[in-house]
Amino acid sequence: MSTNQQVILRERPTGWVAPEHFELIASPMPVPQDGEVLVRNHWLSLDPYMRSRISAAKSYAQGVEPGQLMVGGTVGEVIESRSERLAVGDTVLAATGWQQYAALPAKQALKIETTDVPVSAYLGVIGMPGITAWTGLMTICEPKAGETVVVDAASGAVGSVVGQLAKSLGCHVVGIAGGPAKCRYVIDELGFDACVDHKAVGFEQALDQAINQTASKGIDCLFENVGGDVFEALLPRMNTFGRVALCGMVSEFNRPPAAHYTLRAILINRLKVQGFIVSDRMDTWPEIRQALHQRVAAGQIKFRESVAHGLENAPAAFVGMLKGENFGKQLVKLTT
Ligand code: NDP
Repeated sequence: MSTNQQVILRERPTGWVAPEHFELIASPMPVPQDGEVLVRNHWLSLDPYMRSRISAAKSYAQGVEPGQLMVGGTVGEVIESRSERLAVGDTVLAATGWQQYAALPAKQALKIETTDVPVSAYLGVIGMPGITAWTGLMTICEPKAGETVVVDAASGAVGSVVGQLAKSLGCHVVGIAGGPAKCRYVIDELGFDACVDHKAVGFEQALDQAINQTASKGIDCLFENVGGDVFEALLPRMNTFGRVALCGMVSEFNRPPAAHYTLRAILINRLKVQGFIVSDRMDTWPEIRQALHQRVAAGQIKFRESVAHGLENAPAAFVGMLKGENFGKQLVKLTT
């Protein structure tokens, strides 16, 4: 254990990102200083936001420069401690990036003490993606029982939680997902009322059928995860005074910005459209995490994970996720 494997950004992609834009390197083992711990990472989270971190475009957070370590959430085990806050053997959640080992201040790590959910869930359903779902749905969409809620990337880390929460509030919930297997899962396992395959011929007709099953005949709350063509199809189908939580535009990361032709729908329907970034309100995370945790532990919120094995496979898994090859929260297992 004398070296630490890391994945760095080799060069910025223009257009589609590929595994070749990253590089696996061997670095010296980090050495913890006073107040720090050395963590061996077991799980790495792969998230769409990482694509904007490696882009030169203006964003809400500092980017990763070529030659720098890729950022990312991790769950690991403390193997050396120079802090009273954490002991050897503790399991912690932290943002240590795409690497096997990390030395970090103990106060930047959250100790995971629960045993009723798998620790990997701290990167997904009860982690940043789950908290994103809760925040956008509850504070921007604010759906009421009987309203129609639509969410795209519905089988994914964020979308799956959005739909299940909306169902628990008594809403008519329609998911959009890529392919029949994902749509079946969204209905049969997650309990959505309907799911429309955005890759299938007749997408818009199927969408109309799914959203016209209630009296309001349209979308009251849209939780937007993908942007692009799907968003173009959804926005004109909003009801008057509908709400759009603009969470992400994953379909637009790897292509030039699209012109949106449907913005008139915002005007004529008097829509409330609000973008949000989940890290703006870190103060709300503990309470939301606890609420999600209770529901997951009680089996009221289900989740699914796509697991790649080995740090060397993280770049390909990341690219695959952006192409929709993941089925549920995309993770990398770093240890055997
Ligand atoms: P997912 O697990 O949902 O994975 C991404 C999914 O996006 C793919 O599986 C695919 O699903 C879908 N997708 C990709 N390309 C397209 C396309 N061209 N058209 C339609 N769908 C596409 O990721 P997350 O749940 O982690 O993230 C979902 C969204 O939430 C992302 O946009 C992300 O950036 C955003 N986000 C925003 C946050 C915030 O603070 N605002 C925080 C966290 C996430 P399918 O095969 O079903 O099409």
